[in-house]
Amino acid sequence: MLKSFIEKSMRIEHIGIAIQEATQAQTLFAKLMGVESYKSEEVVEQGVCTIFYALDNTKIELLQSLAPGSPIDKFIQKRGEGIHHIAFAVDDIRAEILRLKAQGFQFINEEPQRGADQKWICFLHPKSTHGVLVELCQDIK
Ligand code: ZN
Repeated sequence: MLKSFIEKSMRIEHIGIAIQEATQAQTLFAKLMGVESYKSEEVVEQGVCTIFYALDNTKIELLQSLAPGSPIDKFIQKRGEGIHHIAFAVDDIRAEILRLKAQGFQFINEEPQRGADQKWICFLHPKSTHGVLVELCQDIK
């Protein structure tokens, strides 16, 4: 039996996909998944426009850069379009940050920031997670 280290395992809240141009990608992913996006939201501080699709039990988030030099712009310049991050839902983001820091994980931002879709978010540094950019997110109530 697998040992559980935390009270309950994490759930994938969404997967973020970096895209070059929203209009075409938005239609393509709607066709692929058979569902229209339910919202589009700009997060100006992070220079990103997000487009969300709700699937069974999880979501897809498309990320388009709003400005040259933004994190998404840099990602696309370096690696091209594609999967950008995996976001895990947590109940208490500050407690999770402390738990993961104690285990040696590194963070890009240790102070939760306001993200899209009514969430507090923070990112683990991909160099501590085998190259995977991991987001933690907690609903803002
Ligand atoms: Zn995200």
